[in-house]
Amino acid sequence: MSVNFKDHIRVIEDWPQPGIRFKDITTLLGDGNVYREAIDQIRQLVKDKQIDVICGPEARGFVVGAPLAYALGVGFVPIRKSGKLPYETIEASYDLEYGKDSLAVHKDAIRPGQKVLIADDLLATGGTIATCIDLVKKLGGDVVGAAFLIELSYLTGRQKMNGIDVVSLITY
Ligand code: 5GP
Repeated sequence: MSVNFKDHIRVIEDWPQPGIRFKDITTLLGDGNVYREAIDQIRQLVKDKQIDVICGPEARGFVVGAPLAYALGVGFVPIRKSGKLPYETIEASYDLEYGKDSLAVHKDAIRPGQKVLIADDLLATGGTIATCIDLVKKLGGDVVGAAFLIELSYLTGRQKMNGIDVVSLITY
């Protein structure tokens, strides 16, 4: 199936604040064939990495990371906003393209030495993913890559990845 994924992303001007051109992925997710094709193509790009587990930040990291984990037959570890996870966590705070937040992961979610792929819907400044990488490393995980539906290349988030392999399907 040949898809121009950009045709399935809705760009919302000035949301959630003036000057932001928000890439709305709900239009892509709502089309079953396109959603499956997107996950399949990401799977192709990462399948040789010997991934043990996929980590994704809430909430849109779940809609990319969880089906990818299912397709690869590996586990999925949710990274959540502070205060949402029920067991003991480690936390780290970070800056967003707009705003500031704090992320947490269960302290036993990743075993030392496990190969971890981090997945999210979109790479902007890279702050979110850099924080996820920090959390995974603190637990002793080995980050083998980061995968996205969308990369905003003009925000140069890729440069924050410190040499970690980045794959994305759609680039703006
Ligand atoms: P970063 O931390 O790389 O600056 O921002 C990426 C995070 O913010 C991702 O978790 C993503 O879900 C969210 N985000 C920022 N801008 C957009 C956007 O235009 N569209 C979508 N879908 N998510 C965005």
